[in-house]
Amino acid sequence: MPSRMLTVEGRRDVHEKVSVWKRAGLRVGFVPTMGALHEGHLELVRQALRENDRVVASIFVNPLQFGPNEDFTRYPRTLDVDSRMLDSVGCHAVYLPQVEEMYPSGADTHVVQEVAPKYLCGEFRPGHFTGVLTVVAKLIAQVAPHVLYLGRKDFQQVVAITRMVRHLDLDLELEVRACATVREPDGLALSSRNRYLTPEERTVAPTIKRALDAVVAKFAAGEHRVDVLEAHGRLVLDAASAFRIQYLQVVDSETCTPRVLGNAIALRTDTVAVAAYLGSTRLIDNVPLTGS
Ligand code: AMP
Repeated sequence: MPSRMLTVEGRRDVHEKVSVWKRAGLRVGFVPTMGALHEGHLELVRQALRENDRVVASIFVNPLQFGPNEDFTRYPRTLDVDSRMLDSVGCHAVYLPQVEEMYPSGADTHVVQEVAPKYLCGEFRPGHFTGVLTVVAKLIAQVAPHVLYLGRKDFQQVVAITRMVRHLDLDLELEVRACATVREPDGLALSSRNRYLTPEERTVAPTIKRALDAVVAKFAAGEHRVDVLEAHGRLVLDAASAFRIQYLQVVDSETCTPRVLGNAIALRTDTVAVAAYLGSTRLIDNVPLTGS
């Protein structure tokens, strides 16, 4: 079947296309990605299609959000398959900026946020959220959509971006929608990085979700002391003897601030989040304490 999807490479071209749609009174949703697409990404596109007249996805492996020893060069790049997947679900346009288009030499401004990036992944990936917020702010300026679609799988990213666009902060006129995490039947959250896992690692990877569920179950059973909840989750992960845990923490869902910094009592509105290495693959996941 011939492709109906538009492919755009220049920032002016994407801006112009979206402007034409907006002048025609159409509502535009936007789904930023780094490619290596899977069902999790496609669910964001499908939700955007249900709620908007036109949907733009972007694919850009953002060098600014990778640390010097991280997987920027080996990050999977599967552009042809990605384009076919986006086309097959009915995405209207894909924006594929080049690094030189996004960061021309001489670019001198970054978006630095104070609170959320201090914790969780921010503690282990210095500069990561500055890279994420800078590219997302630029993508929002370039595409100028009505609605931005993000996955809750990257909970801290949702928090940081939501705080960046709000009236208190950069006042970007845009709605943010956070969509449910899409999982494999055994609970493993879909991720572009899952393809790094060996078959043996893949069989133990769902322990991450089981550890989170164990914390949720203990909270539901009446245990609200944060240290006890976190220790319980770590025990489940440690029992698999395969993970190197970076953090397993109960945090405030609005700010990512760890509850241990306060009175160490978990609230119903909190989130339990985890990052752990399985071999050389870093996996992250989270669930609200009320479960999902
Ligand atoms: P990425 O390409 O990994 O940067 O992700 C692009 C968008 O897809 C982000 O908003 C992610 O949170 C979202 N996403 C990634 N994995 C999932 C998943 N398993 N379920 C839902 N959304 C996801």
